[in-house]
Amino acid sequence: MNEIISEIEKGTTIIAGPCSVESYQQIDEIANKLSQLGIKFLRGGAFKPRTSPNSFQGLGELGIHFLREAANKYNMYVVSELLDSYQVDKYHNIVDVIQIGSRNMSSYQLLKHIGKVTSRTGKPVLLKRGFSATITELIYAAEYIINEGNPNVILCLRGIRTFEQMDSMMRFTPDLAAILELKERCKLKIFFDPSHSTGKTQYVIQISKAALLLGASGLLIECHNSPDKALSDGRQSILPEQLNEILI
Ligand code: PEP
Ligand code: MN
Repeated sequence: MNEIISEIEKGTTIIAGPCSVESYQQIDEIANKLSQLGIKFLRGGAFKPRTSPNSFQGLGELGIHFLREAANKYNMYVVSELLDSYQVDKYHNIVDVIQIGSRNMSSYQLLKHIGKVTSRTGKPVLLKRGFSATITELIYAAEYIINEGNPNVILCLRGIRTFEQMDSMMRFTPDLAAILELKERCKLKIFFDPSHSTGKTQYVIQISKAALLLGASGLLIECHNSPDKALSDGRQSILPEQLNEILI
């Protein structure tokens, strides 16, 4: 566990991978390309909190296993979202960083549960900002986990809902300035998600650069080997090789 934390402490952390794990072949291909770029953290959704119940919900348990297998093959760490306490109990040992999604930032019982389950190991928890949550609410959400004994919470900004969604091309409003305020108000690592915050492939690289310039310690980026065929969030996904633009 300390190994993961010291990896995160080293410098800028890039977590990359598809929105959803779709097949073993897909995640293997993406992990292979990412590892060649020196990326150590592989993301992939197995349990997807989709807005519509009719959208692809992820491969579930199979997806978690595919992700683990690909990460092991390329010597990477697994970052994946768990949606409820049952999934935390069942799968926390398989993932290296537990992601809590925007829609669950205020699920306080879940946050307490994760804090308890990870208090012995200190496994990192990537807590995403609720898209209508204030900065104070995000900090308090992190404290729910920390108070149960796990201090290793990483805050991840991922865009917020504002009046701009009335007519903007963007999916959310990138909350870049919150990086500055969070750095002043708490000691936790601040990551930024340029993919969900813009919803647009063509903005991902520039928003990533802006987030790093403002002091983000890491990025969570959706990458797909064939974005136009992705089962979820293809329109905000970049090709793994495009990451070269922020790695230099
Ligand atoms: C994700 O990163 O896979 C995700 C679902 O993001 P969010 O919770 O920010 O919508
Ligand atoms: Mn997504």
